Formats: sequence, structure tokens, C-alpha cells
Amino acid sequence: MEVISCLSEMQKSSLQWEREGKKIGFVPTMGSLHLGHLSLVDLVRDQSDLVIVSIFVNPTQFAEGEDLEKYPRDLERDLLLCKEQKVDYVFTPRTEDIYKVNASTYIAEKSVSEKLCGQSRPLHFKGVTTICAKLFNLCRPTFVALGQKDAQQVSVLKRMIEDLHFPIEVIVGRIVRETDGLAMSSRNVYLNDTQREDARLIFQALIKVKKLVVEEKTINVDRLKEELMKVLQQGNSVRVDYAEVVNRNTMRIEEGNISKESLLVVAVWVDSVRLIDNMDLSNE
Ligand code: AMP
Repeated sequence: MEVISCLSEMQKSSLQWEREGKKIGFVPTMGSLHLGHLSLVDLVRDQSDLVIVSIFVNPTQFAEGEDLEKYPRDLERDLLLCKEQKVDYVFTPRTEDIYKVNASTYIAEKSVSEKLCGQSRPLHFKGVTTICAKLFNLCRPTFVALGQKDAQQVSVLKRMIEDLHFPIEVIVGRIVRETDGLAMSSRNVYLNDTQREDARLIFQALIKVKKLVVEEKTINVDRLKEELMKVLQQGNSVRVDYAEVVNRNTMRIEEGNISKESLLVVAVWVDSVRLIDNMDLSNE
């Protein structure tokens, strides 16, 4: 496994691999790796000649006052995990190289990113699309693996890839969870024991709604949201940022009855820790 930090070296190498007809699998991350990230490596490895994992805590997707400074970082551990996972290249660019002081070009998606997390974190997706476009240009992936955990991010990036004609196929990995159901996240380390107890309610609420859909054929969106809220409100430290049923492709909020493309999406604050999760409500 090789670690590359230099932008021009990364791009020169990936252009060379491209010329050789090699298929490049790419997993963009902010590090502090867990099994969710590693499952994405497995997902692209079979169809790729080589796998690149990027580790970069992207400042432009954090707003003022968010957790950029305290975001967990442990490069040494991340590199060990990548090696064990048979990653070929780890790309660890420096912030000052990615964002030159005189840079003035950003990429913004203007539809899928507007609601939900886009509303709560107004500049977040602009940061995500900008960094991913940069990373795509530097790593030249054939496949990019993204986690369903960040469902809106998947839809936003799919739209960007389509709109800007990136020759990249998106592969979406299922949500990897802790044994108690909590979706794995680098931010879970912020939770103390009581907060962690409350955080478990998120998956319990999602499961309850899924059960209502599957077993009792409940299809009314308001009714499902009501049941979801009942579970979430059991947590003293839980404050719901949003809980919606959306179309999984457009992220448009659904009303009335659920559809074949319905996705239940939630963002909650557990005290000062913001967690997101989602559940496919289709019966397939
Ligand atoms: P992050 O490091 O949080 O930016 O995440 C990097 C990639 O890992 C994104 O595509 C995430 O959606 C994905 N990811 C994060 N958590 C999980 C999880 N629990 N299961 C599957 N993929 C995940």
C-alpha cells in the first residue's frame, strides 16, 4: 500500500492508470475509519484493478461553529486499517493544497441538496460537491463507492456526476450498524453512555416504522411519522432536526401515501451531537 499526499503525483499516477486501461475504485472519506468505510472498499475491490481511499477532513463542508476542529483524526490507525483491507493507495492531500488561498471556484447542486440537511446546514453540500469534484479530477475513478447512511449525499453526488458528465459509476453500500442498531459514524465517539442509549432510539424508531409498513400495510406518511416521533421522544436528550418521508432519488418530501421510492430520513440532535439515519420503506 502506498500513501500519496502530493496532488500532482496523485493525478499523474491516476492518468497513467487510466491510459493503461485500469479500472480505479475510489472511496472518499474523512478518515477515523470504521467498518462502514471498510465495507465500501470491499464493494469496489472486485471490479477494480486498484482501490484508492482518500482521507481528508474537508473544511468547506463544515459551517462556522460545527465540529471541524474536534472531528476525530487518527491517520496512523486509518492507514493500518486500509492496509488490512488491501487498499492499494491512500490519498491524504493537505488542506492548503486542495484549497489554494486565491481559489474562487465552487460547485453547487441546486435541487436535491436544498431540503433536509441542506436546510439545516446551508453550505454543507456545496462543500461536499466541491471536494468530490476535485477528488474525482485527481483520482480519476471508474467507480466511486458511497454509503447509503448519507442518503442525501448519495443523491446529490449522483446528480452532480450526471450533470457534469463525470465518467464515473456510483456504487452504493448498505448502512453498516453497531450491534445495537446505531448506524456507524465517526461522530459516535462524541456520545457518552446516556447519550448513546438515546441514540439507539433512532434505529428502533426506523424499525418500528418499517414494521408498520411491512406487517400492517400502513402507508400514510403522517401516521408513520407520528409513530416515529413517539419512539424518538422517549429520549430525554433527543431533539429532532427533521423526520421526513422523501423520494429516494429526488429527496422531495412526500405527503399522503408512501410510494415505491419512499425513504424515511431522520436527523436528530442527541444533545450537541447531530446524527442522521434512514430506512428504505419500499417492500422489495
Ligand atoms: P465520511 O468519512 O463520514 O465522510 O464517510 C465516507 C463514506 O463512508 C461516505 O460515503 C459515507 O456515506 C460512508 N459511510 C459512513 N458511515 C457509514 C456506515 N455506517 N455504513 C456505510 N457507509 C458509511
